[in-house]
Amino acid sequence: MWGFETEPEFQAELDWIETFVREKVQPLDYILGSQWDIHAPEFERLVRPLQREVRERGLWACHLGPELGGPGYGQLKLALMNEKFGMSRFGPIVFGSQAPDTGNSEILAHYATPEQKKKYLEPLLANEVVSCFSMTEPQGGADPTAFETRAVLDGDTYVINGEKWFASEADTAAFLIMMVVTDPDHPDPYKRSSMFIVDRGTPGIENLRNYGFYGEPEPTHAHLRLTDVRVHESQMLGPRGEAFAVAQTRLGGGRMHHAMRTLAQATRAFDLTCQRVLSRTTKGELLSDKQMVQERIADMWVQIRQFRLLVLETAWLADQGHDWKSLRKNVSAVKMVMPKVLHDIASTALHLHGSLGLSHDMPFAELVINSFHVGLADGPTEVHKMVVARQVLRDYKPADGDIPSYTRPEQERRARALYPEEA
Ligand SMILES: Cc1cc2nc3c(=O)[nH]c(=O)nc-3n(C[C@H](O)[C@H](O)[C@H](O)COP(=O)(O)OP(=O)(O)OC[C@H]3O[C@@H](n4cnc5c(N)ncnc54)[C@H](O)[C@@H]3O)c2cc1C
Repeated sequence: MWGFETEPEFQAELDWIETFVREKVQPLDYILGSQWDIHAPEFERLVRPLQREVRERGLWACHLGPELGGPGYGQLKLALMNEKFGMSRFGPIVFGSQAPDTGNSEILAHYATPEQKKKYLEPLLANEVVSCFSMTEPQGGADPTAFETRAVLDGDTYVINGEKWFASEADTAAFLIMMVVTDPDHPDPYKRSSMFIVDRGTPGIENLRNYGFYGEPEPTHAHLRLTDVRVHESQMLGPRGEAFAVAQTRLGGGRMHHAMRTLAQATRAFDLTCQRVLSRTTKGELLSDKQMVQERIADMWVQIRQFRLLVLETAWLADQGHDWKSLRKNVSAVKMVMPKVLHDIASTALHLHGSLGLSHDMPFAELVINSFHVGLADGPTEVHKMVVARQVLRDYKPADGDIPSYTRPEQERRARALYPEEA
């Protein structure tokens, strides 16, 4: 079966989300700072009531499947919901679906002990706290085989030393989910690290500085130095040596949701551009009457639709029972295309708006920069392209010789052997 319809009851929810985000959430983007600063008085005043409305509507923190205690919408519906959340910087947190908490809650739901779930997962899902995922290191980037931050067991306590950076929201987080080397001599480099839940207030965690990115309200990406940070062994998340496998758990659904939120940003830039070219006149005619502008509008529309279909097909496959591991090719394909789509759409939108498009009054320059964010965070595009190519080529066999059987003369010989009566 194959279909592109949305069932009417769910469409009504999507319509409600869109109106709610447009009318009540988007305005927050213009007046509030970081969306992770959940204890700020203005957050309490403005965001909490909106979160209550979402809860009453039954749309709060929908990303967990029923086996993990969530409502179990499935990936396709989650994708469509995230397309609406992505219309606003505050959309995800108003719906309890913000990164990195969504991915972290998936990991906790999968691997945490009952005690860990009570202490960390429950307040995280309630947005009483926010969290951080800390993997990347200064000397080795996000390559797990190059990590140096070490945890050494001392009695029943691990002692952690090393450095992590680009740990987003480390200062507002109540705890960090951190990937640390516990078994440096393991022959398989992907089995050398373990995952730990580290309370942010643990002595020995020093934030050397926060990196900021253009377009973000404040710098929130921490460079952490860890000096004799003592963590009880019960704070290990998942089996020892399995941090890589644990980390993979958070990357499937999270990447799909991020893709749909990114798509929402591209779609917004496209919508604004359509309005502009239909209203702006130069040299006696509307921009929309100029064929080179028309070509760009057509290219933008097609690029957005192609990307949307790729994401939705991947989400649909996940709903058919394919696990994220078996969908690695599709997920990496989504991740590798996402920066290009946002970059192309945002830069064309900027250009077609002329100097207004380049100004701070418009979101396009920020979106162009954001296209680089999405091409780096969660692994650079090159790595995802390698994954796609390797997985694609697994389904093929080498050609059978220097003159392969698929050449025209060979195919003709086969055809004539099959149909000898034909001239
Ligand atoms: C907005 C943002 C938020 C982030 N948040 C977090 C976070 O919360 N927690 C966390 O742990 N990390 C986080 N990161 C870090 C992110 O995961 C890394 O930046 C990313 O994985 C790339 O690592 P790197 O920056 O060290 O780049 P490098 O590894 O130094 O790579 C630099 C460039 O080299 C090229 N390259 C790298 N590898 C290959 C390859 N195998 N083949 C070909 N070319 C290659 C690519 O062009 C790449 O962009 C965040 C990054 C950004 C931008």
